[in-house]
Amino acid sequence: MNSALNPEAPEFYPHLTSVTQDGYSTINKTIRSSNQMPSGASYEIFKTFTDFNIVTSHISKNVILQSNQIIITELPAVKLKYNDNEHNTDKIIDADDSMLDRVNINIDRVSGVNKGDEKVLDGLRSGINVSAWNKQKPIIAKFQVGSATFIGAKNILRPQLSFKDTIDNSDSLWVPKISDKPNNIKPLTLNILYNAEGEAIGYEHPYQLELDMYRPASEFIDPDPAPPAYPLPLDSTQYTYINTEAQLDELLRHLNGVNELAVDLEHHSYRTYQGLTCLVQISTNQGGDFIIDALAVREHMHKLNLAFTDPRKIKVFHGAESDVLWLQRDFGVYIVGLFDTHQAAKALKANGLSLKYLLMKYCGVNADKKYQLADWRIRPLPEELVEYARLDTHYLLYIWREMKSELLAAGAGQPQLLLSVFEQSRQICLSMYNKEVLNDNSHMKLYIKSKKSFNTQQMLALKMLYKWRDAQARALDESTSYLLPNHMLLSLAETLPREVQGVNSCCCPMPPFVKQNLMTIHRMLLSCRELPLEPQLFQMPSSIRTMVNMHQTLNLYAMNTHDVSHLPEFREEDSSKFEFASMFADEVTQLPKQIHAFAHTYNGAYYGIVSELNAEAKHFVPPYDRYRKYRTLAQLEEIKDFKEKEAKIAAIGKGDDLIKTEVLLKVQHAKTQVENEEKSVVESEEIETRELVKKSEKRKRKISDKIDRKDTLMPVTNKVDSNPKNISETNKNLKPFVYKNVDYKKFYDDTEKTRNHKQLKTKYKKCRK
Ligand code: AMP
Ligand code: MN
Ligand code: ZN
Repeated sequence: MNSALNPEAPEFYPHLTSVTQDGYSTINKTIRSSNQMPSGASYEIFKTFTDFNIVTSHISKNVILQSNQIIITELPAVKLKYNDNEHNTDKIIDADDSMLDRVNINIDRVSGVNKGDEKVLDGLRSGINVSAWNKQKPIIAKFQVGSATFIGAKNILRPQLSFKDTIDNSDSLWVPKISDKPNNIKPLTLNILYNAEGEAIGYEHPYQLELDMYRPASEFIDPDPAPPAYPLPLDSTQYTYINTEAQLDELLRHLNGVNELAVDLEHHSYRTYQGLTCLVQISTNQGGDFIIDALAVREHMHKLNLAFTDPRKIKVFHGAESDVLWLQRDFGVYIVGLFDTHQAAKALKANGLSLKYLLMKYCGVNADKKYQLADWRIRPLPEELVEYARLDTHYLLYIWREMKSELLAAGAGQPQLLLSVFEQSRQICLSMYNKEVLNDNSHMKLYIKSKKSFNTQQMLALKMLYKWRDAQARALDESTSYLLPNHMLLSLAETLPREVQGVNSCCCPMPPFVKQNLMTIHRMLLSCRELPLEPQLFQMPSSIRTMVNMHQTLNLYAMNTHDVSHLPEFREEDSSKFEFASMFADEVTQLPKQIHAFAHTYNGAYYGIVSELNAEAKHFVPPYDRYRKYRTLAQLEEIKDFKEKEAKIAAIGKGDDLIKTEVLLKVQHAKTQVENEEKSVVESEEIETRELVKKSEKRKRKISDKIDRKDTLMPVTNKVDSNPKNISETNKNLKPFVYKNVDYKKFYDDTEKTRNHKQLKTKYKKCRK
């Protein structure tokens, strides 16, 4: 193709330039003249003129005719219809998608990517400048999103295929991989931990005792006799690449003789369910930088425990939360003796917490973080990725020494602040890896974040697709975002396309997995349409929504050690622009594990809002359950209202009779009263005192009634008191709202019954209009 990108390429279609240039100017002219058509209110006025209608209908028919001539070459079965704008737009989008897909496939074919290899990675699609700067496989693709450069590649063999260990993506309990425990105080035992209900919830940390007994060596606490030597720049030092067992053993011998090492990991999460550690970088003052190809020597990586669990050796990481879990998951490697520079930056109340910031502050190095989002499975590892990976550990030991003296200075000679960083770091080491477990509400996290409002059909579709996608991802060992990105899943559930082509417009560009399962997905969505359509779901109050979102964001920033400030474009909504980006978007959103919307432990600034809204709520009640509950209450109110009205109407009917009897009664009463007054004026005094006694007796009974009722309330109050964690002292007098006792099943059954109520049925019909 003769193009601006490659002027030397032969022109394979002689008239291409004239066709595209002419086409472009024709389209331009068309758009300009269509913009001159009356629109909005003036269109309504124009439409009252017959001549205008004749002209526009003539043009419309012409446009339909010509469009159909184009579409028929792409989708012969699809035809635009006159006066059916809504469907016509969908059909045009479908045709466009289909054409673009064909263009993509053809480009791939020309560049030799799609040669029917099953194991081919095709995560990269349209809009990517594929530069085959490595003539052999894999084909590397780079593309720019803002200031970030994405490095991806096609033709990467799935590294999982050569792993010696089997990957278990089932939701069974994750079993620690460790079989050998160097540096132990207590020999290796794998103890299962149980919760109060007797369910197994995980394993005890294999190095629990060793971590409990850990105290940093005095050389790491005492002030340094001399300032640390500034490290030589990256390009004037060598690095060692390790991808064989022998090389790894060599490294371990080296580590045996050092007491300080900087460590970092590079990770891949797009073409795997649980994630893969691809690289482990280690730097030492004596040996320089080491890059371990963790995919190549995966089954030998456990040997690192020798140095990593040695309490006399300090391991310096920046933001080790994820790394600690990845090391456990992939290699059964644990850390005893961690110093996390991210925790140190927090303790020093530094202006920035990212490694980029620390590199600039302490080393004057401007780290280019543009390869942060690379595909770390690429082998051989491109030189620019090697450089990038080295940078993450190369200066870290110098930074640790600098931070150490700052922490000591901030503590005015006392090591308290420094020790607090060691303690924070120790806590990170204590965390245990666990597999993700899906429950009936897992999809709600996505729903809440989407800020959409779904009806019953859409909600069912969301839940169904979410569960199905997760099961498929586990079975295929792919990420859910590779199979079907969140924004596409939401769009499918929202539109519930009737036609198969509709799936196309929700999933553009269509991921290979969707293409393979088009019919299954479509059938699933159609089945959701069979559910009775009910009015719009209860909308979560915007204050709660904001709060939930805010909490997620807060959590995210609190945990994120990566500097993403240079990626302003990197927002969830934009991910449709480059499907590859979903890989990284998910990486970020995976960090906060749960939404503690109503958790009492959360003490952030927004806790007060939740607490005021529902002081006693112990569980997060998802919007759908809230809606059902709310609806039942509303229906009961309506029934009550209806019955009251019915009674009133009946009363009016009987009104005349009632008045008559009442008048007669009153007349009778008056008569007897007069008679009695006349007869016994003398006895009146005696009767009055008897009445008084009766009244005071009545009052007594009322008071004791009250005491009795108070007694029956007591157990409830006791219950609350027995759970002092959740109810504060001042809340004791409040009537407890026992959320956890709400029986949702009962709610559903009640709704079934009330739905048959005639009065309500008509109300629903009105709502739907
Ligand atoms: P780092 O500690 O910065 O080297 O990052 C380790 C791994 O975390 C990388 O290999 C990525 O897989 C992932 N990662 C790094 N930065 C980001 C980011 N901004 N968003 C999502 N994932 C990231
Ligand atoms: Mn890291
Ligand atoms: Zn790194």
